[in-house]
Amino acid sequence: MLTMNYTYRLYPSATQEQQMLEWMETSRKVYNYALREIKDWVASRKCRIDRCSLKQEYIIPADAPFPSYHRQQNALPKVKKVMPRLAVVQSQVLQCTIRRLHDAWDYFQKRGFGFPRFKKYGQMRSMLFPQVSATAIINYHIKLPKIGLIPITLHRPIPDGFVIKQVRVLRRADKWYAVVSIECDISVPDPLPHGRAIGIDLGLEKFLTTSDGLPIERPKFLKSLQSELKLLQRRASKKKKRSHNWEKAQKKVARLHHHIANRRKDFHWKTAHSLCDQADTIFVEDLNTVGLNRGMLRKDCIDASFGQFLSLLEWVCWKRDKYFSRVNPNGTSQTCPACFAHVAKPLSEREHLCPECGYQTHRDHAAAEMVLHRGNERS
Ligand SMILES: [Zn+2]
Repeated sequence: MLTMNYTYRLYPSATQEQQMLEWMETSRKVYNYALREIKDWVASRKCRIDRCSLKQEYIIPADAPFPSYHRQQNALPKVKKVMPRLAVVQSQVLQCTIRRLHDAWDYFQKRGFGFPRFKKYGQMRSMLFPQVSATAIINYHIKLPKIGLIPITLHRPIPDGFVIKQVRVLRRADKWYAVVSIECDISVPDPLPHGRAIGIDLGLEKFLTTSDGLPIERPKFLKSLQSELKLLQRRASKKKKRSHNWEKAQKKVARLHHHIANRRKDFHWKTAHSLCDQADTIFVEDLNTVGLNRGMLRKDCIDASFGQFLSLLEWVCWKRDKYFSRVNPNGTSQTCPACFAHVAKPLSEREHLCPECGYQTHRDHAAAEMVLHRGNERS
């Protein structure tokens, strides 16, 4: 089963926009209310039986059950009778809001930190339609339950054999988007390793280097946009919080953030296609095992961008019948690709020079050649 997310720009009418904003605001209140219930329940458990708390008493009896997802979800219809504003929103959207809270709660329970927070005004910026009709996209419009047809830019049509599973509506920097999850239930045989193979080394200096020795540079515009963003953020932080100018500065920051994300994704697409033009089999490092030994100090930060690129590359490979595989990258930068001797080198050393066989090349190129070797060995 293959799932993919396609993002499209939405152009709601003024009425639809108002309607969706109200829905998000109602979702936010439901989220906060449900979180309040969980917090109160947790607080009521903290009170020891043999003490009487002087400051406050919780009215929740000691044997009250935990406000679980199902309890809170089942309470929705009753609340709706009292609060008509809730009934306006499609019920599944609200259920998903509660689901989202409980996912955050479960995640907190597992990790032991990151208690879900109350969402402030304007912080609920997306809502999920878990069920839409399989033919929700027709004639450059998307049909959302209770909201109706919204014009959409269908720059990429839904591929044949795929059905629409769910739609998340997002608001980013005054613009509306629909993230459409599509699923293919026809089983397509995965391509096998074939044809010309290349290995890829992801890096900090260069975006990536292939085993052919072809480096792909980080685009300059991303760098200059990043520094522009820093400047805007600094300016925004100097404004008086919640003032008119602060709001304006925040909006500017959000807009640039959004622009950068778009440009980066575009760069990722183009890179993935150009790699597929060069080879039929592509081996990459498995990011899960890339560690600090590669000098990736802000690993989480880099992971996000590399992770996005690799899953995109995997998808492009699949679509173009290219074989894609991840290999264990341990030691790839410390082994000579010509004679497989161990060649230890610190990060600062950008050159690979083998004392055993005299093979000399750029460090990243040697690593990419090792990735290719690992891939060939395995398949
Ligand atoms: Zn060597």
